[in-house]
This record gives sequence, C-alpha cells and structure tokens, in this order.
Amino acid sequence: MRRQFIQTALLSSVGALAAACQTSAKATKSAIVIGAGISGLAAAQVLKKAGMTVTVLEARNRIGGRIWTDRSTGTPVDLGASWIHGPDGGNPVTTLAQSIGAKLFKTDDDRIIVYDRQGNPIDDRLMERRGQEYRKLLAQVQRGSENKLDSVADSIRKIDHNLLNDPLIQYQLNAYLEFDTGGPIEDLSARYVTNDEAFPGKDVLFPDGYDAILKPLTQGLTIQMNQVVQSVNQDFSEVIIKTKTQEFNADVAIVTLPLGILKAGDVIFSPPLPEPKQTAINRVGFGTVNKVFLKFDRPFWDFTMQYFGYASGNQSLYSYLLNVQKFSSIPALMAFSIGQNGQAMERRSDEQITTDVLEVLQTLFKVRSDEITPQSILISRWMRDRFTRGSYSYASVQTRMEDFEVLSQPLNDRLFFAGEHTHSTYRGTVHGAYLSGLRAAKDVLNT
Ligand SMILES: Cc1cc2nc3c(=O)[nH]c(=O)nc-3n(C[C@H](O)[C@H](O)[C@H](O)COP(=O)(O)OP(=O)(O)OC[C@H]3O[C@@H](n4cnc5c(N)ncnc54)[C@H](O)[C@@H]3O)c2cc1C
Repeated sequence: MRRQFIQTALLSSVGALAAACQTSAKATKSAIVIGAGISGLAAAQVLKKAGMTVTVLEARNRIGGRIWTDRSTGTPVDLGASWIHGPDGGNPVTTLAQSIGAKLFKTDDDRIIVYDRQGNPIDDRLMERRGQEYRKLLAQVQRGSENKLDSVADSIRKIDHNLLNDPLIQYQLNAYLEFDTGGPIEDLSARYVTNDEAFPGKDVLFPDGYDAILKPLTQGLTIQMNQVVQSVNQDFSEVIIKTKTQEFNADVAIVTLPLGILKAGDVIFSPPLPEPKQTAINRVGFGTVNKVFLKFDRPFWDFTMQYFGYASGNQSLYSYLLNVQKFSSIPALMAFSIGQNGQAMERRSDEQITTDVLEVLQTLFKVRSDEITPQSILISRWMRDRFTRGSYSYASVQTRMEDFEVLSQPLNDRLFFAGEHTHSTYRGTVHGAYLSGLRAAKDVLNT
C-alpha cells in the first residue's frame, strides 16, 4: 500500500512527497547525497522529512551548484541560472519562489533590438519575417531527420548549403537554439531538436538573486562543504564514499554529480557503472553557455529595451545581451557567449574577454572606448569549472532519448541518480533538476 501511495503521490513538491512518506516503515535508513545543487537539496529534504538520516556532501564552499548568485559587486548577479523558464502551469520552481515571497520580474522577449555586423539596427518587420522562416526551418530539420544521426548543422546544409552563411540564421541558431539547449549546432541532434518540453508562461527572473529558492530546501539539513567526493563504493550492505579527507558510510546514496563530472570520470565508482549507464553518460551532450556581467557608471544603451542581439556573422563570440537595468537599479549589461563561442571564450584571458565585449558595445551603441569604462566585471567559465565541466545537457547526435532514462535509473537499490541530465523532458533546467531530485528521493523511499 505504501509503495502504491508514494507512486501516485503528486511529485511536484518536497512537502507533498515527504507527507506521502511520513509513515515510512523504513524511516531509519541513512543516506548520503552527493552535491548540494537544487537536485541534491530537494532529494535530501524529502528524505529528511521522511525520517531518514541524511548527509549532503558538497565539493565547493557554497551550495547551489549551477544556481550561483554572486554578490561581490554589491549587486546580486546570477552567473548560472537566471530564469524560471515557463513559470506557469505548475512549474515547481515558481511554487518554491512564491513560498518565500521572492521578487520575480517578467522578461519581455519582444523588447529587443537586433543589430547587424556593422551595428545597424535590423528592421523589426524583417526580424519578424525571418523569425517565422527560422521556426519553419527548425520544423523542417526535425521532420527531415527522423531515424537519422544528423546534427542540426548537417541537416540545414542538406536543405540549403548556403543557409549557414546567413548572419541572421547564424544569430538565431546561436542566440535561440544553442542558448536553449546549450549544445553547438554541429553536435545537436537534428531529430530531437524540438523534443524537450516547457511549462507555459513568459520567463521570469529573480532581481534579488536565484539563490533565494535554495533557502527553504536547506532547512535542517546537514551539509558538509569542501568535501570533494573521490570514490563511491557499493558494498553488500552499504555505500562507502571517500572524499579527499574523510570516509562516509550510509545505506544508500544519491549521486547528483553534473554530467560533465561523470563524463570526465572524476569520481571512481566501484563496481564500475554498468555499461548502459556509462554509454548514456558518453552519448548525452554537455554544452557551454557563459556570461559576462559589466557594470557601468551610467547607461549608454536604450534602457527601455530588454535585450540586444548581435548578428555579427560569426565575427564576435557574443550574440546576446541582457539589459540588467530593466530589473535592477544599476546600469549594467550581461553578455552571453553560447555553444562553441562559449568554449572559445573560456580560452581567453579576463582582459581579452573584457576588450571583446567592449568592442561589441562600441559597435552597437556607437560609443568611444574611453566613454565606457566598466566599474566591475564578472565572468563565468563553466567548462573550466572543475565541479561542473560545462553548463547543461543536450541531446547530441549520438544521444538516444532513452539515455536520459538510463541516467536516472538506480543501481541495486543502493545508488540513486538525480540532476538535470537525468530528466529527459525538462533537461537543462532548474525545474528539471528539482523534479529529478524528488524522483530520486521517491525511488529511495520505494525500495
Ligand atoms: C550559465 C548557465 C545558465 C543557466 N540558465 C538557466 C536558466 O535561466 N533557467 C534554468 O532553468 N536553468 C538554467 N541553467 C541550468 C540550471 O542551472 C541547471 O540545470 C541546474 O541548476 C542543475 O542543478 P543540478 O542539481 O542538477 O546540478 P548542480 O547545480 O551542478 O549541482 C551539482 C553539485 O555537485 C557538486 N559536485 C561536483 N563534483 C563534486 C564532487 N566530486 N564531490 C562533491 N560534490 C560535487 C557541485 O559543486 C554542485 O554543487 C543554467 C545553467 C548555466 C550553467
């Protein structure tokens, strides 16, 4: 009965799931959760509420993982996730945000000026028409690629070899598709190009920082920071986890290591992960999206706009800019470097990155370099981050849809898996990661 009850419980919140498990006969079990990102915290919170002894091991000296609000400039700046994508229709992150009264700001995708390579604004009607053509192109890419292992780039080349030389197509593919998925078009699967799902509603972001939603998930949890897990050993009766400095034992463990860490083999599993799981780890893609935040003493852009696009014809590593001043009192911009651009950007020094972005701003906003000295700059490098090694997962040319399911499957009722890469429908998002944590906790409680 209990098993049935848990399976049918509404799985969209820690509270609902934990309540369903309160009478658990096995509430004395101990668990270790590896990783204090949102998936790990959500899983740990459910298990704790169900009466288990839970320890969270986190490699960094902060929680949140890819939810990372930097406050070093005196302003909350999200260098990882920014938006609740599709905040309506029961998105559990909205519920979390509302539960703590977090301030939310609705971003308006239509408040955008897209510029050509020389920095001339492109006419809105032309952009509208090209937007429709772009959507048709993606539908054509998917239709034409069923049962094929083409990348999006291959598929477009087959439709028209010249299309990929068109600066506006390049811009749309980079600022929309590669941004959404995190993967470069040369590796993104054409057949799965539009097959992930989204909640409805216009995206919202957190003017005071995304990390606010972590607070309710940490309540009462034992989280050990600076614990870099090195190995995970399954025994007949327990899991033994070794970090650089300590050894931990528990009945079960939930592994929320990012896909980039699993791919790199940074953590040794004993016995080794079974072949299907390792194959899925190899086949699912892990992309790169980076951010450069620049704060100025005054705005020199049209501050009524939400976004600026730059169709540079692949001359710049930055295609998309967010006007931070729309939701914050400070004159600041956030530049995005996406896909292969995001990877190339990481190989450049802070000084080069700053120069690159300032050159874009000079081109778009017709200002001289001496007029735009940034007061502060923050740069993300998610691919080089040794506790993530990338930004978020995507369906690559090699990926099969069942790979996401395989990534989520428990091993021997002892090792459980969560993280955005284990949620096929909402992969690559905060809500996907959160729901994956609830699912893994449910799996534990169902053993
Ligand atoms: C630049 C960027 C922008 C994004 N924008 C959005 C957005 O706007 N909206 C959205 O919904 N999603 C966005 N995402 C995706 C979203 O942030 C992630 O999907 C989500 O936060 C992942 O949560 P997670 O718990 O799966 O993984 P993580 O948050 O990465 O948590 C895993 C944890 O494991 C820890 N860890 C790693 N190695 C070890 C080890 N050896 N030992 C112990 N601990 C370890 C890590 O430090 C980390 O804390 C963005 C991501 C990035 C990088």
